[in-house]
Amino acid sequence: MLIAHKIALNPNNVQATYLAKAAGTARFAYNWALAEWTRQYEAWKANPTQPKPSQLSLRRQLNAIKHKQFPWMLEVTKCAPQMAIIQLGQAFKNFFAGRARYPKFRKKGVHDRFTITNDQFSVDGSRIRIPNLGWVRMREPLRFTGTIMSATVSRVADRWFVAIAVDTQDNSYLPKAENQGVVGVDLGIKAMATLSTGEVFAGPKAHKALLGRLKRLSRSLSRKQKGSANRRKARTKLARMNARVANIRADFTHKLTTDLTRRFHTVVIEDLNVRGMVKNRHLARSIADMSFFEFRRQLEYKAAMRGSQVIVADRFFASSKTCSVCAHKLDDMPLSVRWWTCPVCGTLHDRDINAAVNLKNLAVSSTVSACGETGFGLGRKVQVKPASTKQEVSFVPV
Ligand SMILES: [Zn+2]
Repeated sequence: MLIAHKIALNPNNVQATYLAKAAGTARFAYNWALAEWTRQYEAWKANPTQPKPSQLSLRRQLNAIKHKQFPWMLEVTKCAPQMAIIQLGQAFKNFFAGRARYPKFRKKGVHDRFTITNDQFSVDGSRIRIPNLGWVRMREPLRFTGTIMSATVSRVADRWFVAIAVDTQDNSYLPKAENQGVVGVDLGIKAMATLSTGEVFAGPKAHKALLGRLKRLSRSLSRKQKGSANRRKARTKLARMNARVANIRADFTHKLTTDLTRRFHTVVIEDLNVRGMVKNRHLARSIADMSFFEFRRQLEYKAAMRGSQVIVADRFFASSKTCSVCAHKLDDMPLSVRWWTCPVCGTLHDRDINAAVNLKNLAVSSTVSACGETGFGLGRKVQVKPASTKQEVSFVPV
């Protein structure tokens, strides 16, 4: 299993300059290759005897010209431009498979990063050796044992991090899940997450308070003159605040997914159509606050490490509209309704808890019917699909 550990770096000024230069070289190579790819692809379409672009051919072409045209590239690790073009190849692969949009040019200051392959660096306790640079201090030693695969150095606001990917032989880093059975998790607007046990996770409060400051900082930045020192300072302040908000979100998601996978052997969630929900402006903030994809990704890899499972209910499963006691289904359920009484059995429901219980019942009834007995909970054939097992996981959103 491939897992990554993201560690803060403590570079000195000279080292920080090198890291920025290497990230700049990676960005330049990526953008150069993207422009070349587009141009060569058009040329190939017009005349199929021309070669079709690929990451391999573009890497060779860059290697052939970099000594003459871009001699400054040689000042940093050769991995920076090479890996950037390999990543572009991956971006095109995702695009051609319909998983992603056409690759975009990388912008300076937006997720600055570069990747080094395992033959080009070494780790010794709390330090990492980077080519042409030497040893850089890390805030903590690498947590995992196994074969080190690659390292990606990236900048968040004005701090540098390294994410070291390790291929571990076993995935028993976490103790097995406590046997507290099945839990349904409803993700919503009023509360970030409601469990079928009745527990409610409201979401990070500090975050809401920071949003006002975030707005003020971005207004302050827009008032500063372009190219001025004050603008640069304001930009750093804003970037730091953005990083802080992102950290608070990530912390909440990690704690929630750890708690769920630690306690329950089966976690049932809904397959949220996030793109559709973000269009609804009432939902947009809360969904963006806890990225559903990130929530699901963490849940899946943590469950895999603890030997528990994640079940994702069908997108059209009516978790909110169905009575969790008698399975009566309402025609309509406006978002504003927080409490409702079932017209058939008379049970008073909290909207979110009812939805979570329905999700839980989905797993219970599907396991029962799998054993050849009559399902209970919901009086209909349930559609469940096991969550895909992800190969690649990381402990911190990169
Ligand atoms: Zn009912």
